[in-house]
Amino acid sequence: RSGAAAELLCGVNAKALLDSVDAFLFDCDGVIWKGDKLIDGVSQTLDLLRSKGKKLVFVTNNSTKSRAQYANKFRSLGLSVTQDEIFSSSFAAAMYLKVNHFPPNKKAYVIGGEGILQELQLAGFTALGGPEDGEKRVQLKSSCFFEHDKNVGAVVVGLDPDINYYKLQYGTLCIRENPGCLFIATNCDSVGHMTDLQEWPGAGCMVGAICGSTGREPIVVGKPSTFMMEFLLQKFHMSPSRMCMVGDRLDTDILFGQNAGCKTLLVLSGVTTESILGDSSNSIQPDYYTSKVSDILKLLGE
Ligand code: PLP
Ligand code: CA
Repeated sequence: RSGAAAELLCGVNAKALLDSVDAFLFDCDGVIWKGDKLIDGVSQTLDLLRSKGKKLVFVTNNSTKSRAQYANKFRSLGLSVTQDEIFSSSFAAAMYLKVNHFPPNKKAYVIGGEGILQELQLAGFTALGGPEDGEKRVQLKSSCFFEHDKNVGAVVVGLDPDINYYKLQYGTLCIRENPGCLFIATNCDSVGHMTDLQEWPGAGCMVGAICGSTGREPIVVGKPSTFMMEFLLQKFHMSPSRMCMVGDRLDTDILFGQNAGCKTLLVLSGVTTESILGDSSNSIQPDYYTSKVSDILKLLGE
């Protein structure tokens, strides 16, 4: 987009947007839900878009759950969304290894949550680490020698609230002692809304720790990287110019859509305020913005 300021969504451009796209890609946190709470009017909006024949896809950078766990979350919030409409960064990490022919005799070491382990295992890979290493401690005596599995060919890092020195040493050794070992980041979000009242360090914090100890840059598979987009475009045979990415974050969601050539709609129901959007230091401008997804219903007079 050529630097033009975002247009406020109104009756006229909402109708034009709907006519110009066949699919909507929705970010989840800040758009569909906030933490565990459904955002007002989402269910009716998704129903309307489906009734108009639009394909719906849900793309989240939160790697703590697998797609199966997200399908349960959608169900528990009263939304009918199937597993193959969901693209989480945990799934993206597993698919990255799959499309790049990661050898089945190699293992992945996980600094992150259950979602990553589940997706790696579902894709047929052997995964080590994850939550069970949260209890492990190292004793830094002078005689301490840390052993790691030499068959680890990838270190996958996502949000890990139980990160510790054991996991950092494990991941660091795998990468430092094997120049061929992949370093994959599910996402690099600086902060996330893990609780209602505060932001907490996001996956970018854990990824940054491994960058620091290894001097390596990660392969990022979550938004705004193009990996998930290319994967889902192939899977659904969709054309980016006929798609609209809806998100609450400029540097992940809106950039993700723009990098691929999709139309973009920013909602102000998450982390971005109108003043951040309009700030002169912000160079990322979506095509349209509105307060929340259910504005679409109202603007179309439904
Ligand atoms: N990662 C974590 C751990 C989160 O808690 C969140 C949001 O709550 C995100 C990433 C961003 O998720 P999304 O891409 O759905 O906004
Ligand atoms: Ca979001």
